[in-house]
Amino acid sequence: SPRNASSSPREPDRLLGGLLSPNFDEPACRSRYEGSRRWKPSPFPVSPYLVRKLRQYEANHRRCGPDTSRYREAMAQLRSGRNGDRGECRYVVWLPVQGLGNRMLSLVSTFLYALLTARVLLVHEPPEMEGLFCEPFPGTSWLLPASFPYKDVRFGSESKESYVTMLQNNVVRYDGGNASSALPAYVYLHLENMNLRLQSHTFCEEDHRALDGFNWMVLRSDSYFAVALFLVPTYSDELERMFPSKGSVFHHLGRYLLHPGNPAWGIAQRFFDGYLAGADQRLGVQVRIVWHHPVPFDVMFDQILRCTREHRLLPQLTGSEPPAIVRPSSNTTATSKANKVKAVLVVSLKPEYYDKLHGMYYNNATASGELVTVYQPSHDQDQHTEARAHNERALAEIFLLSYCDEMVTTSWSTFGYVAHALAGLRPRLLAPLDLSKMRSDVACVRPASIEPCLHSPPSLVCRRKQDLDPVAHVPFLRHCEDVDFGLKLV
Ligand code: GDP
Repeated sequence: SPRNASSSPREPDRLLGGLLSPNFDEPACRSRYEGSRRWKPSPFPVSPYLVRKLRQYEANHRRCGPDTSRYREAMAQLRSGRNGDRGECRYVVWLPVQGLGNRMLSLVSTFLYALLTARVLLVHEPPEMEGLFCEPFPGTSWLLPASFPYKDVRFGSESKESYVTMLQNNVVRYDGGNASSALPAYVYLHLENMNLRLQSHTFCEEDHRALDGFNWMVLRSDSYFAVALFLVPTYSDELERMFPSKGSVFHHLGRYLLHPGNPAWGIAQRFFDGYLAGADQRLGVQVRIVWHHPVPFDVMFDQILRCTREHRLLPQLTGSEPPAIVRPSSNTTATSKANKVKAVLVVSLKPEYYDKLHGMYYNNATASGELVTVYQPSHDQDQHTEARAHNERALAEIFLLSYCDEMVTTSWSTFGYVAHALAGLRPRLLAPLDLSKMRSDVACVRPASIEPCLHSPPSLVCRRKQDLDPVAHVPFLRHCEDVDFGLKLV
């Protein structure tokens, strides 16, 4: 049996409270069970209902997945050009777009959509993602077979296959008037952000009923649209039962779905064991500078130091702390902290943040006597989403961050969101700068939850007169700390 025979007291952690199926071959995906041991216990219990849903999903995926007669039948129907009657097996095909953080957010969102609509999730894996993630479902595959005809079509909001275009052209009706056999063979759902909004007609109840009429859906998204599924009343009972704590959606589904393949895991494991495992505490610092928000190095570095100082994430250097704070109370603190090792994991495309921080703690002692070690696993300089080895490093670093006890992350970064949501911790989020003053009033903020932010809320106009601000209507939604029009679950 692939199940590890020695059932240690750690067994419940290894399966993450029932989230992971025990029915996997370990060597094919070493991260699945090894990785789960390195996380701290989740602050959110997994609901038994979610566990049941996942096992049901897995069984259905085995029945309908690639290499089954049901899949071949569904393919034949797709190729016929007509939707046909409601299929026993129904599919949602995920197409990748943007960087790895974006992809992980949209993949988890698509999986949640598949859970809610009893569709089977099939993933188009372009060469740069080959083997990046393990198969998540036992005894079957989530990879879209190479023979699927539409995987390289450049779909967009204007495509004739797009749901909104079909609505405009009266190819589909939202009021239940569709004869399902008269519909086209598939629908494309465009969920990419368009000027930081998702298209109208993508998250209203009647549209979701109409979308349900299609046996095949192709979906492309760069966004954490899981949040928007909470706005569709049809799904609210199920979501409530799966997630009694709303702020744990990505945390649980990401831990369930996204396991680094062996190459990426090798990187993460070697680095963790070699540099981080021995430390008493680990602080992750993620610095992402994007072209549309070019913060100069000195300003960013200063903000990181302000944040770590104000929240006591890093010890002061000898002589830099006012004596009044060091002396009186600190006999006990000093001795208890002396010789403790704090490892700082700097994760960034650029080397200079590491260089400077490393230099500070290399050349100076700390006032508390703590030892601070500073490491950076790689510094590729620029984003290269088209390169597999680059993506493996990126994924390894997301997981390394997720094994930290505390985290400082950059606002707006989906890379940072994924890391802290997997970890289950609220980071210190570096506040966006006022670029005209080159300063933010507060260095960093503590988000209300560990959830990623949806940068592009859907327009909810649909058939209403005006748009709604969901935060005013839904108790477990907030605007994001770093993106004030964004939405997040709490
Ligand atoms: P976002 O742009 O910060 O929202 O994150 P994405 O992950 O979607 O896109 C950024 C991409 O740039 C990543 O997927 C990586 O390919 C690369 N990248 C950004 N920051 C880092 C980093 O700190 N380490 C590594 N290895 N790659 C990074």
